Amino acid sequence: MNTDRPSGVIVKVSGPLVVAEGLAGTRMYEMVRVGKMGLFGEVIEIRSGRSSIQVYEETEGIGPGEPVVPTGSALAVELGPGLISSIFDGVQRPLDLLRGRYGDFVVRGASVPALDREKKWHFVPTRKAGEEVEVGDIIGTVQETPIVVHRVMVPEGCAGRIVEIGEKEAALEEAVCAVRTASGEKPVTLLRRWPVRQARPVARRLPPSSILTTGQRVLDMLFPMARGGAACVPGPFGSGKTVVQHQLAKWADAEIIVYVGCGERGNEMTEVLMEFPELVDPRSGRPLIERTILVANTSNMPVAAREASVFTGITLAEYYRDMGYSVALMADSTSRWAEAMREMSGRLEEMPGEEGYPAYLASRLASFYERAGRSVCLGKDGREGSLSVIGAVSPPGGDLSEPVVQATLRVVKVFWGLDDKLAGQRHFPAINWLNSYSLYGTMADASADGSVDPFWAANRREAMAILKRESELEELVRLVGMDALSAHDRLLLETAKMIREDFLHQNAYDPVDTYTSLAKQFRLLQAILAYYHYAKRALEAGTDLNALISLPVREEISRAKFIPENELQRFDEIKKHAAAQAAAAAAK
Ligand code: ADP
Repeated sequence: MNTDRPSGVIVKVSGPLVVAEGLAGTRMYEMVRVGKMGLFGEVIEIRSGRSSIQVYEETEGIGPGEPVVPTGSALAVELGPGLISSIFDGVQRPLDLLRGRYGDFVVRGASVPALDREKKWHFVPTRKAGEEVEVGDIIGTVQETPIVVHRVMVPEGCAGRIVEIGEKEAALEEAVCAVRTASGEKPVTLLRRWPVRQARPVARRLPPSSILTTGQRVLDMLFPMARGGAACVPGPFGSGKTVVQHQLAKWADAEIIVYVGCGERGNEMTEVLMEFPELVDPRSGRPLIERTILVANTSNMPVAAREASVFTGITLAEYYRDMGYSVALMADSTSRWAEAMREMSGRLEEMPGEEGYPAYLASRLASFYERAGRSVCLGKDGREGSLSVIGAVSPPGGDLSEPVVQATLRVVKVFWGLDDKLAGQRHFPAINWLNSYSLYGTMADASADGSVDPFWAANRREAMAILKRESELEELVRLVGMDALSAHDRLLLETAKMIREDFLHQNAYDPVDTYTSLAKQFRLLQAILAYYHYAKRALEAGTDLNALISLPVREEISRAKFIPENELQRFDEIKKHAAAQAAAAAAK
């Protein structure tokens, strides 16, 4: 703590907002300790000698006249081995949730170090003494968890020639390497700090170039997410939001998961936090928590800490991106963060914008989502890392025109609209195919990993067209009845039903259905469309619609999602059956 600077004095306490005088020289976003208890706070406005401070802890019991002490630094997180598997609060204090102390663990003003200072890590160097290193170069590794290797990078200000490095058991603050820099010899430890509001630097930002596969058919096929992209998912209660998040955490093609729970009701959050550590990583068979970091700020914690939790989470995620990992961050719910901004803005008596949200709502949300991306990391090896961000929003009454959704949609390129009506019909995942979108669709079409067929794009377009037409026809049926439809329209409705039930519907709890490779997704949709094309041709040749609707191959298609990944040749059989059965029906 910087003690050279004058302490201030509280003049006013208004919920999470404290106004102090006498804090000469403090900067915007500087951390201060507030009141006799030393609560954590951050300066968010400086005006005519008064500093407004948002306090991350309950301010009950503190009052005018108590001191405010500047710390000299901005809100920062600790970075180093031990982050993975941890559960932190919004200001990175470790939560001992699993021992059932949830809810009453917050000792106000407690400065608990985020990372264990005692624990020894086995450092294995990858560079030798005498070698020149620059900022971002990987100088060694630490096995952080059984499935994550922590790559130790040269920190800011430590470029130069390695004078000493060796394999050793090191605690976080012990030097693992010494570097002769332009300004003298410097020790490199496993521990770093980084201010959360500042994006961590990269050598170069690259546009996303591949999709972040999720194994979820509705997402990958219809509304693909890019590796390094940003997505938004509204999640009305009971719409399957938790299941979607768990599925993404398990199956998204990312190496590290950061989950930020922001301001959701304690019980919902507890559900996520209690369940998360029990999830099994399907790829490694190990607990998923061994490649996950949880940041939890529930609605019973002060609103001001919501923003801190979001920026804390993304900074931790960037740190692993910098190591060259593919990282996925999920934040739930950004609406609760926006509400906190609204509350703080109101207390600051700022000019309100739309629906009382501050005028900077959009730019603040953007400053978060824009930290997503694919990049060349700092360091000579030119490694690439990516950070994909999926933010949940919870618009009141599901109203997608409200400011938080709208501001978010301006910065993200994917929108997965969870829909409580679909959830009510038990159609899961309840992603509404009519209002969802992805601007990464063409990238998915061009995916060069061999699993994407040249017909991928055409199939996706056709499936979407059938689903759109279905909704128009349904409207027509409501107005004038089923009899108004032609045989072609009815065949289309049958096909749309197959797309919905046999393709889009995906059971997260079925061991086979829970994940579908791109290759299988393609074949499954192809089988449905093949049936449609053969039946359409037969219909044009005068075949009876009912005969086509009741072809036995439809039963086969409805079970096809359960075909194991190593038996994909069975899809060729299905297509042959569709052709043969349609031809036989036409011949009758
Ligand atoms: P929310 O978090 O939005 O309140 P949940 O994710 O807990 O909702 O989902 C509610 C219920 O819906 C789950 O308990 C489960 O029964 C069902 N469900 C949601 N998604 C799926 C899915 N993909 N497959 C099967 N069941 C699902």
